[in-house]
Amino acid sequence: MHGRDTNPPTGDRPARRPVVVIVGRPNVGKSTLFNRLLGQRSAIVEDVPGTTRDRLQAQMAYANRRFELIDTGGLEPDADEGYSALIREQVTGAVTSADVILLVVDAAAGVTRIDTEIAEMLRRVQTPILLLANKVDNDTRRDAAVEFFELGLGEPMPISAYHDLGLREALERLTDLLPESPPQEAVAELRLAVVGRPNVGKSALVNAILGEDRVIVSEQSGTTRDAVDTGFLYRDRPLILIDTAGIRRRGRIERGVEKYSVMRARQAIERCDVAVLVLDATEKVAAQDLHVAGFVADAYKGMIIAVNKWDLVEDSEESREAFASNVLRRLQFTPWAPLAFVSAKTGLNINGLLDLSLEIGETRSLRVPTSEVNSVLREAVAANPPPSPGRRPLRIKYGTQAEVRPPTFVFFANDASLIHFSYRRYLENFFRRRFGFEGTAIKFEFRSRE
Ligand code: GDP
Repeated sequence: MHGRDTNPPTGDRPARRPVVVIVGRPNVGKSTLFNRLLGQRSAIVEDVPGTTRDRLQAQMAYANRRFELIDTGGLEPDADEGYSALIREQVTGAVTSADVILLVVDAAAGVTRIDTEIAEMLRRVQTPILLLANKVDNDTRRDAAVEFFELGLGEPMPISAYHDLGLREALERLTDLLPESPPQEAVAELRLAVVGRPNVGKSALVNAILGEDRVIVSEQSGTTRDAVDTGFLYRDRPLILIDTAGIRRRGRIERGVEKYSVMRARQAIERCDVAVLVLDATEKVAAQDLHVAGFVADAYKGMIIAVNKWDLVEDSEESREAFASNVLRRLQFTPWAPLAFVSAKTGLNINGLLDLSLEIGETRSLRVPTSEVNSVLREAVAANPPPSPGRRPLRIKYGTQAEVRPPTFVFFANDASLIHFSYRRYLENFFRRRFGFEGTAIKFEFRSRE
């Protein structure tokens, strides 16, 4: 027994995700805004019930940026007296924890004394501030919003949280204000392996991905010499495409080609972050696809199932669902892998595939603070305690996220051998749901500790 993992967790590692805090005087619409932002399509990752009663927080992702959104609405006093002190507390709290502050004001009410008071405090801090003039649901109020320039916090953005107006723009501005990710994450290349059976369209897909006017930054044979690695930029992010079909068919290998391609797939998967398992929309899932998905699960990688040649299928909700349910039935070890219906031939959804890859890449880098791991652990155990037929009961004492890429959770129990496979699966699913670990395998380890 040695090393970091056998020591008790000493506390949370610094949370990587930037924090966005909503402040403003009572009744300006902070919680409506909070809920609306969460409701923006594909924005929500997970709801965390407030860890303290005076805050509501949620993990959000927008335009591939993740952040934690906090609503300070709960701090509102009931009575008029004591406003100043409470507002001061709210704002001070926001300033110390926020990377970006959303100051919400009410365009229907105009500038009030408390707005001015808050603005005075905020003008003195370095934290970027986005001034949102809420309740702008007509043109008169749009003009009224301009009045908030006088707060000295830059241009007020007119929004209506209630009517869902201007929120996309606000989110765009907000993500621009988020701090850059730490350097090693910012430059980390995301490695995609394109794998699948012969003739499903791997090389066509690679060409479709690298085609257009993609900026190619590098090209080299993979270390195994059975793949070509191509580096390119997508949405300013460096990606590497590991192309197992890239070594063009070398004549004589046609015999035994299946076996050979499985081997190449396996090597490519070892080196990737996200495997793109290409299927042919006109064919059934084959045994070989199961093997490949099994490698992905064993290697704890991310995976997308790219259903290629979708141009040959009549596209409808039903046809997609039918294909998806067949895939899910066959690929039982990777129920978390999303499908992308694509066509290398027409270019259908190629960007969607890449966006999904980036998202999964980020999910694999998520780090959950130890305190959250343990509160979710307690919740999971309370909802469904481990069965203890006759023998001594299993007690899982605490857990921590030990690694990212893959997300790796270590749990300490009185006797790790008491953990049944199905209970482990239960915990895994519980965590997966709570923390939004979509599209990737996650690793759960249990250790004995008296
Ligand atoms: P690989 O062996 O997986 O690399 O497959 P290829 O890229 O060589 O493609 C096999 C065949 O499928 C070729 O005849 C391609 O033209 C065809 N193909 C690939 N992608 C598509 C697609 O999206 N739609 C259609 N209709 N045909 C495709």
